[in-house]
Amino acid sequence: MKKSWPLEDLDCANCAAKMEDAMAKLPGVTKVRVDFFHQTLTLEAPDEIYNEVLAQVVACGKKVEPDCRIITDGSKSKAGEHHQHHHDHEHEHEDGCCCGHDHHHHDNDDDDDHDHDHCHCGHDHKHHHVHEHVEEHDEEEGEGKVILIRAAAAVAMLIGGSLTSGWLSIVLFIIGYLVAGYDVVLRALRNISHGQIFDENFLMAVASIGAMCIGEFAEGVAVMAFYQVGEWFQDRAVDKSRTSISALMDIRPEFAILVKDGKETKVSPDEVNVGDTIRIHPGERVPLDGVVLSGASSLNTTALTGESLPRDVGEGDSVISGCVNLSGLLTVRVTSSYGESAVSRILDLVESSGENKAKTERFITRFARVYTPAVCGAALLLAVIPSLIDGNWVQWLHRALTFPVISCPCALVISVPLTFFSGIGGASKQGVLVKGANYMELLAKLDTVVFDKTGTLTKGVFTVTAIHPEKVSEDTLLEMAALAEVYSDHPISKSLKTAWNKALDSSRVSQVEEVAGHGIKATVDGHTVYAGNDKLMARMNIQWKPCEKQGTIVHVAQDGVYMGHIVISDVVKETAPAAIKDLKELGARRLVMLTGDRKAVGEDIAARLSLTEVHAELLPQDKVSWVEKLLETAEGTLAFVGDGINDAPVLARADLGIAMGALGSDAAIEAADVVLMDDDPQKLAVGMRIARKTTKIAYQNIVFALAVKAVVLLLGALGIANMWLAVFADVGVCVLAILNATRAMRN
Ligand code: ADP
Ligand code: MG
Repeated sequence: MKKSWPLEDLDCANCAAKMEDAMAKLPGVTKVRVDFFHQTLTLEAPDEIYNEVLAQVVACGKKVEPDCRIITDGSKSKAGEHHQHHHDHEHEHEDGCCCGHDHHHHDNDDDDDHDHDHCHCGHDHKHHHVHEHVEEHDEEEGEGKVILIRAAAAVAMLIGGSLTSGWLSIVLFIIGYLVAGYDVVLRALRNISHGQIFDENFLMAVASIGAMCIGEFAEGVAVMAFYQVGEWFQDRAVDKSRTSISALMDIRPEFAILVKDGKETKVSPDEVNVGDTIRIHPGERVPLDGVVLSGASSLNTTALTGESLPRDVGEGDSVISGCVNLSGLLTVRVTSSYGESAVSRILDLVESSGENKAKTERFITRFARVYTPAVCGAALLLAVIPSLIDGNWVQWLHRALTFPVISCPCALVISVPLTFFSGIGGASKQGVLVKGANYMELLAKLDTVVFDKTGTLTKGVFTVTAIHPEKVSEDTLLEMAALAEVYSDHPISKSLKTAWNKALDSSRVSQVEEVAGHGIKATVDGHTVYAGNDKLMARMNIQWKPCEKQGTIVHVAQDGVYMGHIVISDVVKETAPAAIKDLKELGARRLVMLTGDRKAVGEDIAARLSLTEVHAELLPQDKVSWVEKLLETAEGTLAFVGDGINDAPVLARADLGIAMGALGSDAAIEAADVVLMDDDPQKLAVGMRIARKTTKIAYQNIVFALAVKAVVLLLGALGIANMWLAVFADVGVCVLAILNATRAMRN
C-alpha cells in the first residue's frame, strides 16, 4: 500500500533529505519519500503492517525534525481523495526554506490578522481559491516585514554598540544579536539536544557566537541579521517557483454543472458519479471525462497537449477533462470519476514524478551527507593546526568561523530537484509528460530512437485502396473481412469497418482470435474465416495470391479457401519528416522503424522520412529482439516510441519507453516513461530540447554552487573572505540557483 500524507512546517530541503534517510532505514518501510517541494510524505509499506510502520515513521520524523508535522489524522489524507489534496497543498504549506528556518505562524504573533472570516460559499472553488491566495500573500508580506524590522532593529543596536564603549556597547550588541537571531539560537539548542550537530541553526549560532566570543561583536550581529534576511529571500524564491510551476499545470477544473431532472447545479467535480449528466458551457473547462450526448463545439486542448489547434467534437465523441469548451453548449455523460479522469491522472503523474530521482539528484544527496561534516572538520583543523604553529589562536579561529556559515549544502539540495521539477512542469505544458527526473536525463541523451510504424509515424488511419476478390463479389469479400474484424481495435480493422460502411451484425461472429503480427481468426456464420497477412496465410497453409499494389495487404480465406485480398494504405503524419529532421539535428544518431507490415511498405516510408534503418515483417517478439540488438550498440539512450497498442513489451525493454497520442489512452499513460499527449511525433524533439536545457541548468547550478563555495572557503582560510561573504556564498548562491532552476520551465 502506498499513501501520501501532507507535511506541515517542513522548511528545509536538507532536513527533508535527512528525514527520508532515517525513515528509509526503519523496518517494514518499502519506500519512503519526503517531498520538500510538495510538502508531502509518501510511504509505501505492506498492507498488514501499514499503520504500525506509519506510526514508526511519524515518530522518526519527530525525532529528526521536531518542527515538522506529518498529518495522519485522516482528515487530510491524500488516499481516497488525492484530488482534494492537490488542491490543498499549494495553498496550505507555503513555508519553504532550505536551512532549518521557520518563519512560521507561531514564530511571529504580531501579525495575525490574516485569519479573516471567509465565506465558504458551498462549491464555488474559484472564490475559495482567490481568497486563500490573498490570505497567504498577506501572511508572507507580514513575515517579510517582521524579518526586516528585526534586521533593522539589530542594525540600530549594532550602530549603537559601535558608538558606545565598555559594557553598554556589549549589552547593545547582545540585544541586537538576540533580536536578529533568537529563534535560530532556540532551534539550535533544541536540535543539539537531539544530537544533530550538523544542523544549520546550530552551525550559524556557533559561527556568530564564536565571532562575538573573540571580540568581533559587530560581525556576529551583522552576520545573523544578514543571514535572516537572506533566508527570507530564499523562502520567497522557493514559494514563487512553487506557485509558478503549479500555475503552469493549472488544468484543474473548479466545478462541474450537474444536470438532474432538468435542473442545473454547480458541484465540485469529485461529487459527480459515473453515468451522471453534466453540462459544459462555452468558456468552461471540461471537468470530467465523458461522451457528448448532445451539442457540438470545439475544444481547446492547449493545456493538455500544447497544441493550439482546437478539436471539434459532436454527439458521440469523447471529451477529456482539462480541455476548455470554446464555442457550443455540450451535454456530456460522465464516463470516469474525477479521480480517474485525465486531469487527475496527469496531475498525479507530474506530481509523483519526484519519486524517480535523477542520477544527479542522488549524487547531490550523497554529496550533501558528507559535505557538512567535511567542512566542519576542516574548520576545526584550520582553527587548531596553524595556531599550534604560530600561536595566533584568535586569528585562525576567526578565519575558521567562516566555514560553518557555508557548510550547508542547501543551494544544491534545493536547486537540483527544483530544476528537474520545473523542467518536468515546462514539458507538461507542451504536452510532454515525463514521469521522473531520471527519464528527463535519459531523454536529454537520446541516441537511438526506435519507432513503431502504425499510429506513430503514420496516422494509423488506413483507407481501402483496392479490393481483389477471387470467385466472390467485392462486397462479399469486404463484408467477410469486416465481420471477422468486428471486435478488433487494430487500425486495420477500423479501416475495413469504415470501408464497409454498413451495419455489421456481430452476432454472426464468434470465437474471435487475434494473432499479433498476423491477423484475425474468427467464426462467421459457422465458417472459419482468416483475415491477415502473408504470414497468417502461410501458417494456415492457404495458397494466397501476391499483390503488386503498394500498400498493406489483408488476405481473406474461408474454410481454407482463398477469397482474395484487400489493399489498404496508411498515410505518413504531416509532421513526421520534420520530427525526424529535428531529432537528427539534436544529435540522435540512429532512427529506426520497426514494423509488422510488409517490407515494401516499410521501406517506402523509411525512404520518404529519411530514417537510418527499417526492419519489416516483424512479430511483437521480433521487435523486442531488435531493440535488444540495438541496445548493444547504442551510445546514449535508446528510446522506443509507440502508440501503446500491443507494444508494451518493447516499451518496457527500451531504456526509455515513449507512448504517443495518449490523450484518453490509459494503457499508454500506464506503460510508458514519457507520454506525448497528442499524436505529433515532433513533440519528441520538443521534449528532448527541454530535457537538454533542464539537465544543463542542473549542471550549471551544481558547478556554480560548488565553485562559489570552494572559492569562499579558500578565501576564508586565507583570511581574505569574511563572514559576510560567507553568508552570501550560502544564501545568495541558493537564491540565484533557485532563480536559475525556474528557467527550466520556460521553453
Ligand atoms: P505495426 O508494426 O505496423 O504497428 P502490427 O504489429 O500491429 O503492425 O501488425 C503487423 C501486421 O500484422 C500488419 O501489418 C497486418 O498485416 C497484420 N495484422 C495485425 N493485426 C491485424 C488485424 N487485426 N487484421 C489484419 N491484419 C492484421
Ligand atoms: Mg502497432
